[in-house]
Amino acid sequence: MKIHEYQAKEIFSSVGITVPKEKLSTTPDEAKRAAEEIGLPVVLKAQVLVGGRGKAGGVKKVNKLEEVAPTAAQILGMKIKGLEVTKILVSECVAIKSEFYLGITVDRSLRQPVLIASAAGGVEIEEVAKNTPEKIVKTAIDPLLGPLSFQARNTGMALFDEPKLAQEFATLAQKLYRLFVQRDLSLVVVEINPLVLTDAGTLLALDAKINFDDNALFRHPENEALRDIESEEPREIEAKNAGLSYIKLSGNVGCIVNGAGLAMATMDLIKRFGGEPANFLDVGGSSSPEKMVTAMRIILSDPGVRVILVNIFGGITRCDDIAQGLIQAKKEADIKVPIVARLVGTNADRACALLADSPVLSATKMSEAVKLAVTLAKEAK
Ligand code: GDP
Ligand code: MN
Repeated sequence: MKIHEYQAKEIFSSVGITVPKEKLSTTPDEAKRAAEEIGLPVVLKAQVLVGGRGKAGGVKKVNKLEEVAPTAAQILGMKIKGLEVTKILVSECVAIKSEFYLGITVDRSLRQPVLIASAAGGVEIEEVAKNTPEKIVKTAIDPLLGPLSFQARNTGMALFDEPKLAQEFATLAQKLYRLFVQRDLSLVVVEINPLVLTDAGTLLALDAKINFDDNALFRHPENEALRDIESEEPREIEAKNAGLSYIKLSGNVGCIVNGAGLAMATMDLIKRFGGEPANFLDVGGSSSPEKMVTAMRIILSDPGVRVILVNIFGGITRCDDIAQGLIQAKKEADIKVPIVARLVGTNADRACALLADSPVLSATKMSEAVKLAVTLAKEAK
């Protein structure tokens, strides 16, 4: 579960991580008042639950008071990656000397949390990792001991020349780690990017990203309370309500699969044959035709999808239910993209009969189905 920058910064603040002076606003007028209170210049920042907001024009510096409301109005009218901007953070504009990166995540191959730090802050860490991996300092942390003082200090020394700053950084990293553990932050990331050194010589969290571990939400009502449903990816919410797990990806092969393992294997195979999955959609066990209709609707609302691949290994899930769902979905909507189905297992023969005189393309082998879907996606471009 993701939360907004302003919420993450409130949490940072509560554990003593310094953040700029700032105020949340939902209207241009409110933004203007906030700017007056904070003092100009200010930075207006769209609050949306997706990355790449700066690049999309969602972060703007404003020097004059009379420009605050119009700029705020402009940002409030924006859509960033399909998500409407309804809130902006009015933030004190900080004089920056240099930008750094600090994040914590779980390294699956090490099976340990790792502290990730870099003097190349302000840009996406994935970019730094790809282009200049030597600029990343990674420190594995013993989960029983937490980051030891010397580890945090050494990381600090790799980033700063001054021991005083290295120490300040070390203290901050330890606070962030405590947060990571106490609030069950996600296996994905908790991130300060950029962490800035101000002209005044102190460290400040200028941006904040926190993802909570969904599987631990049940023991953290305080985390769940921060959920902003209206700001979440609408397709992911619809899926959750229907008992589906849907994750949007950037490719063009829409996938409907049962079981996370089969979903992964299907995505691997799509990549193997040179394609790109558009999503990960797991209809789970015991799928009714209605669930399939919802699944199809969700996938088709993604304009990037060029083909739909249905890969079902029927156990509890009955293949004829899946076929019924496909036929119903076809009836309800004018589906222009080709559908490739590979249905095996429980009631596969009935499914086969149902789909016999429909335009759904069938395949019996998984590799055949995937190859066909990838080819069709490429032809559709
Ligand atoms: P993101 O693009 O969505 O990650 O938004 P950030 O909050 O990280 O801001 C992007 C960039 O804008 C930062 O890396 C800074 O270079 C710049 N920026 C943001 N706030 C300030 C500020 O208060 N002062 C200055 N000088 N630059 C800022
Ligand atoms: Mn950022």
